[in-house]
Amino acid sequence: MSDHIPFLDLTLLHAPVREELHESARRVIDSGIYINGPETAAFAAELAATLGSGSVVPVSNGLDAIRLILRAYIESGRLKPGDTVIAPANTYIASVLPITEFDLNPLLVRPDLTTYGLDWQAAEEAVGEAERRGNPVKALVTVHLYGTPSWDFEVADRLRDRGILIIEDNAQAIGASLTHPATGERHHTGALGDAAAFSFYPTKNIGALGDAGAVATTDASFAATVRALANYGSTQRYHNDFIGYNCRMDELQAAMLRVKLRHLPEVTAARQARARLYSSLISHPDVTLPPELPGMEQVWHQYVVRTPRRDDLRRTLAEAGVATDIHYPLSLFSQKCYSNPGGATLQAAPGARALAEKLAAEVLSLPIATATPEEIEKTATIINSF
Ligand SMILES: *Cc1c(COP(=O)(O)O)cnc(C)c1O
Repeated sequence: MSDHIPFLDLTLLHAPVREELHESARRVIDSGIYINGPETAAFAAELAATLGSGSVVPVSNGLDAIRLILRAYIESGRLKPGDTVIAPANTYIASVLPITEFDLNPLLVRPDLTTYGLDWQAAEEAVGEAERRGNPVKALVTVHLYGTPSWDFEVADRLRDRGILIIEDNAQAIGASLTHPATGERHHTGALGDAAAFSFYPTKNIGALGDAGAVATTDASFAATVRALANYGSTQRYHNDFIGYNCRMDELQAAMLRVKLRHLPEVTAARQARARLYSSLISHPDVTLPPELPGMEQVWHQYVVRTPRRDDLRRTLAEAGVATDIHYPLSLFSQKCYSNPGGATLQAAPGARALAEKLAAEVLSLPIATATPEEIEKTATIINSF
């Protein structure tokens, strides 16, 4: 073993399931069925069972999952161009690209610094303010960023009572859950809102060996619209109800994902153990640790620390052979694609832009996917003497 600590090593990640992946790939190759077959159907049923409710539509990737959700709401008349849609200001750009693609009006709200997801109080205030200005909010995208649930049962209920659609970007949080404070029931992220998008990009907690994603919803007719849109808009072969897309998941990827889904509990437990170890070892006055939140099952897609001296810390770690990453280094507001005169622009609720820019300058993700206890100890020691 070299001294270098990788941020994430996919070969290492796959080592424990290598034989199962090979076996499943062989099964699909020999089956002669590569699209819309038994593997995608089985994966959809297995993921729905994991979530505990609803139907799952396997799709091409996480971005397409969000696009399909918004397009399906547009087709069903629940959204129309110009409608305002809330999203957290510090999210990955893929949460927001489909909002602007469909000429919806993105209103970015400041994140909550304990969950790094939406500040739900600020979101509710933004809903009230948008209504007073005469452009009411029609949908909200909550992002369970870094694998931490971002949900407020009371605020979510009030928003839904106003007819606001709640869409979950669950790309980073498969397997996460939280307890309802009143009923004590456990709810999985991806089964909380009206519809949820999943990504199985290779580095996600369940990764395909290529691109894949899914849409989950408890609304069966909405699921049928998504399924049709992902298959040329066709509800019946050669009969097209919508001007659709090709956003299908391959059988081969579904077979890989079925293996990964079976191992999700161990993968989650290992990530949780690594996060606990980091949190017990790192102690530095300038470094803020991510919180472990009561009542929540966090799945630690990323272990993100925060420090005003981020770039120095990152350099110090790199010089010692520890690879880190930044999620995300450039705020949405500073992206070139949202700075073109006459092009799509992002609206910011109070405080959203400043906080998004502060986070972009201060967050640092430590190796979590494949780090060993020794590697975590070494990383913590370097941070503590920084
Ligand atoms: C990865 C990711 C996406 C996009 O998923 P792809 O499968 O890469 O298209 C969307 N939102 C978030 C928060 C993500 O992390």
